[in-house]
Amino acid sequence: TAPGQLFEMDEVDIHGVRTRVWKYASPSLRAVLENSRGHGDKPYVVYEDERLTFEEHFRHAATFARRLTERYGVRKGDRVAIAMRNRPEWFVAFWGAAAVGAVVVPLNAWWTGPELEYGLRDSGAKVLVADEQRLDRLTDVLPGLGVATIVVRAQGTPPPGAEAYESVLGDVTETALPDADIEPEDDATIFYTSGTTGRPKGALGTQRNITGNTLSLAYAMLGAGLQAGNPIEELANPGRRITLTSLPLFHATGCHTVLVASAVLGGCIVLMHKWDAERALQLIERERVTAFGGVPTMAWQLLTSPEFDKYDTSSLASVSYGGSPAPPALLERIKEVLPERVPSNGYGLTETSAVTTYNSGINYLTHPDSIGPAVPVCDVKVVDPAGADLPTDEIGELLVRGPNVIKGYWNDPEATAQAFRDGWFHTGDLARIDADGFVYIVDRAKDMLIRGGENVYCAEVESAMYDHPAIAEAAVIGVPHEALGEEVGAVVCLRPGLTVTPEELQEFLRERIAAFKVPTHLWFREGELPRNPAGKILKTRLRTELIG
Ligand code: AMP
Repeated sequence: TAPGQLFEMDEVDIHGVRTRVWKYASPSLRAVLENSRGHGDKPYVVYEDERLTFEEHFRHAATFARRLTERYGVRKGDRVAIAMRNRPEWFVAFWGAAAVGAVVVPLNAWWTGPELEYGLRDSGAKVLVADEQRLDRLTDVLPGLGVATIVVRAQGTPPPGAEAYESVLGDVTETALPDADIEPEDDATIFYTSGTTGRPKGALGTQRNITGNTLSLAYAMLGAGLQAGNPIEELANPGRRITLTSLPLFHATGCHTVLVASAVLGGCIVLMHKWDAERALQLIERERVTAFGGVPTMAWQLLTSPEFDKYDTSSLASVSYGGSPAPPALLERIKEVLPERVPSNGYGLTETSAVTTYNSGINYLTHPDSIGPAVPVCDVKVVDPAGADLPTDEIGELLVRGPNVIKGYWNDPEATAQAFRDGWFHTGDLARIDADGFVYIVDRAKDMLIRGGENVYCAEVESAMYDHPAIAEAAVIGVPHEALGEEVGAVVCLRPGLTVTPEELQEFLRERIAAFKVPTHLWFREGELPRNPAGKILKTRLRTELIG
């Protein structure tokens, strides 16, 4: 395809609305994987001292795909769950499953046993690829789940019924993918994201949602590079990107904008198993990293690390972040310690297959409070509570439409109908859009906070708290924190005659919900929590009273 042709459009029906899509976007993840072979001997992933080139990775993925079909009978549409921290095996499991049209279900590695069990049951996973730490949390329930389990880098003997990844993979012999016929509208991924109901919902993305969004992001990145007079080769030639990331691959952002985007563009990923600012600096120096991608908390910790000056960061051309509000001090810090570099802030949701708006380079410097304009082929607008379109600069709920917007929630028509209406996805974020199309997030309409890039849905934490016999009322609120953005706080009222200490309550919760969701600030109150006439707890009032 000639470069100019790439900009050609097609139209298809998405959510009942004619929607522009990229005519030449890869029709499926399988096609992306096949094309990635063209990047040959360039490294795709660097992990500690391990390296996999695109060709080696392709062969690993093709071999894993063959094992999935032959040993486990995986067919198009079957769900293959992944539960582990970032590792090269994450790549192979993802691409191997995607290559045969299986629906990949990445599970949050911080989830507790009951949360992981819920994800496996809800998605009806046929195969689980997990590391030992995740499997340990599932030991008691695994036999009853009926899911074939592959355990990655097992130190000991795999638990009964599970097989070691290395022996499943065996010799990496395959040079072609097993047959599979995959269409752009076929299901591709289920990422769990929560909502007001308390239980995580599976966001069901199609092949097109992901591959189309990747192309939009590439154009947005290129656009920013060109607009900046393109002083930085890395932006004009994304194939030269060496991206350092610790973003979890089990989130849509890490998976789509790093794992998939690098396969499309031929960029290298320097993958971190877990976040550590000094380790990140070491890797930037060692691998001559050109792009950093993370949540604002990571970018902040990297740039304010006391070790920052000890390392050579001159290779860094861009610093990108998103997933939660970026404090203004972050941009100032970039300008101070990495002048002339390209900063970027991307906004998106799991439901929009990651990046929806993108603010980068000169745009970001001239509009520092904005999350940028919508990426190409994606429309945004702002509406009032009755659903009427609002004029420029008026605040309302942000709606998104485009080929990146997912199909709906897995097995949940009610939640789907609520969030996807009249062809638009309702984000639950309050925003305004200026005359030039720049979007500004003002607040959240949804009852949620973001701690270090991880979403915490208040209803989910509150419902876990109500399971404790001493709790009569509970309200979860965000407490501002310099590095994490927000921490989890909770106000509770106890039942008459019953007691619980903060430590006991936290311990109780840690068995039920992932540690990042457990409140670190607890306020005990006499009587009842303030409510409006409709019975809703007045969280804004609580926040003002307690935090100011
Ligand atoms: P998730 O579905 O986990 O990706 O979370 C999406 C939510 O994160 C959005 O609805 C926003 O509330 C928030 N968010 C994501 N990116 C940004 C950003 N760049 N600035 C402010 N909030 C963001």
